Amino acid sequence: MLTVIEALAAIEKYSLPLPAESILLGEALGRVLAEDALADCDSPPHDKAMMDGFAVRVADGVNQRRIVETIFAGTVPTVAVGMDEASRIMTGAPLPVGADAVVPIEVVTLRDELFVTPHSAPVVGKHMQRRGDNFRRGDAIVRAGQPLRSAEIAALAEIGVAEPRCFPEPRVAVLATGDELVSPNQVPAAGQIRNSNGPMLCAAVREAGAAPIDLGVGRDEPAHLREKLLEGLTADVLLVSGGVSAGDKDLAPGLLVELGVEQIFHKIAMRPGKPLWFGRGPANPNGRRPLVFGLPGNPASSFVCFQLFVRPLLSGLSGGGFQGLVPQRVELAMAYDFRGERETYVPAKLSITGATPTRWRSSGDLSGLVGAEVLLTFPPGDHQYAAGTELIALALPK
Ligand code: AMP
Ligand code: MG
Repeated sequence: MLTVIEALAAIEKYSLPLPAESILLGEALGRVLAEDALADCDSPPHDKAMMDGFAVRVADGVNQRRIVETIFAGTVPTVAVGMDEASRIMTGAPLPVGADAVVPIEVVTLRDELFVTPHSAPVVGKHMQRRGDNFRRGDAIVRAGQPLRSAEIAALAEIGVAEPRCFPEPRVAVLATGDELVSPNQVPAAGQIRNSNGPMLCAAVREAGAAPIDLGVGRDEPAHLREKLLEGLTADVLLVSGGVSAGDKDLAPGLLVELGVEQIFHKIAMRPGKPLWFGRGPANPNGRRPLVFGLPGNPASSFVCFQLFVRPLLSGLSGGGFQGLVPQRVELAMAYDFRGERETYVPAKLSITGATPTRWRSSGDLSGLVGAEVLLTFPPGDHQYAAGTELIALALPK
């Protein structure tokens, strides 16, 4: 059995970004930029007014000026401003030749709309911005590896990168297995339960910025399951839930190996999540070898394994580096009696007094995960933890 750290190291080897592609800026939110985006223009592209008012020569002091033209944003000046002259100018419009300051409309006296007098002597460069003051043509404005949020999308738009080169969203096939599973809109008959792992994994894939492909439920029947797995192996990542432990109908690992998937590890010394299986499939039609997780069927185990192991892999494939849940130090808000011989991840809520484990009964208990903000990490070994003990907590996605 691997430790959590060993398993992460094994997975990290396969977490290089998928080949970059060009996508429309309007679809790039959340993607990671694959190459530096360089400015194709100066910003601003011209000396520009930052206020509505008058473009003036500072040398003329508080003299009255004759108004020679009006310059709107989107137009260009046609005459230079000479001695005791000014141009009416709107915010964003290019400054005329000769002007070296803008005087806002609020601090001038106008006569007949023909003459203007500033209330005080203008200052060079005031209420205007010089060409290239923000950045210059050729500057790298957004760097490779930067996740694109609204601010970066705006910057790319300004510099004309309408189809940025980004790492793709990994396509993640999700297959829940088990003869006992019915869909959430059905009333389970005797012996049946609803499929919660399918919806959880599809949502978790989305939370991780990847694209789920829901393959529904696979029955515990070899021929049928083989077909479903084959379909899943065309994705970048295949998540199979259930059927990975030691039961008579735990068919997934055997079938995966039959289909040419190379097992990299099986079983981890942790709770919940011990039966985790990881492997690498044969090259699919786009020439890439899909990565395959056999996640434990127990819902809390599946959830924790996704967050601990699948999430960093998806981050790596998406170009964001092998980033897992962010660890933080927290204090226990209450005394806690821990028993277990494996490293254990316990869902907890945070408050000003520290972390409080939820009422969480077993690896099958989803109710204990509802509203949980962190997974508290307990090292193996029975121990009475006093209130105030410092532990490592992994922050769950918001
Ligand atoms: P397995 O790994 O297939 O032996 O399943 C372990 C436990 O998880 C069993 O109690 C299953 O009924 C349960 N289980 C398996 N798959 C799911 C699922 N998709 N949703 C909810 N529970 C599941
Ligand atoms: Mg099963």
